[in-house]
Amino acid sequence: MYTVQRVVDAMNVIYPPESAEAWDRVGLSVGVPTESVRRVLFAVDPCAATVQEAITTGADMLITHHPLLLRGTSSVAATTGKGCWMTEAIRHHLAIFSAHTNADVAASTRALAEPLGVNLERPLEAETGIGGVGTLVEPMSLRNFAHAVERVIPRVPAGILVAGDPDARIERVAICSGAGQSLLDAANAAGADVYLTADLRHHPATDHLWNGGCALVCATHFATEWPLLGYMQAALAEKLPELETEVSTIVTDAWGLALRGGDVEPERTWRAPAPASNTEHRPD
Ligand SMILES: [Zn+2]
Repeated sequence: MYTVQRVVDAMNVIYPPESAEAWDRVGLSVGVPTESVRRVLFAVDPCAATVQEAITTGADMLITHHPLLLRGTSSVAATTGKGCWMTEAIRHHLAIFSAHTNADVAASTRALAEPLGVNLERPLEAETGIGGVGTLVEPMSLRNFAHAVERVIPRVPAGILVAGDPDARIERVAICSGAGQSLLDAANAAGADVYLTADLRHHPATDHLWNGGCALVCATHFATEWPLLGYMQAALAEKLPELETEVSTIVTDAWGLALRGGDVEPERTWRAPAPASNTEHRPD
């Protein structure tokens, strides 16, 4: 049987906290270092659903990618949503630990690049080591690349958005799991044919495309970061082989339903639907 501290020490060797960005808050956020850990659950987000899953499946520790308390907090009273499940975690002796930007540097990009067949050459952002740029072992069309991404990341309601000519040849790939909007220019500067990331907003994405930028594959935040969890699990299991480990498959994106056009090609002009006949729904 291991202790919380033993798991923390192992995680800190795998993902050194010194390599986290200055604004980040990684490490142990809930838990008693001397308490026992037999079972660990991995999840992208610490939230009510994953804490509940950890408690009901008998986990002693929840290891997440996102930190529990990133910004200033003045109360964890059970009068708030977060306070409620933090209280539950403490009551059930569930420790909570996170490896965030320190894990991004070591493994997040690799967790997407390796199954996609991208040979990584260097980080997308040199100073932080975040993201990556590399070359596809087998070049393919943008459409096929998007389908390859679909097979590598979890299937989520919000799906995957693709910008650019679907038949364009993709060889050089830039990757940043999670919110990678700030690295659009870096993807272009790296000579990427496509940039795979999440959370792109309208204006940065359209400005990028209209300035001749590379194609974009925009998945959800959860979906692009989830593959990291399997890498975390394998690395920790190697260090602490008697630990029982499990990766949560609960989708923690905010979006639960997408009404979409499917494979319909975008039209140059949007046609407003014909107004409904006002004789059929006349108010009483
Ligand atoms: Zn993230």
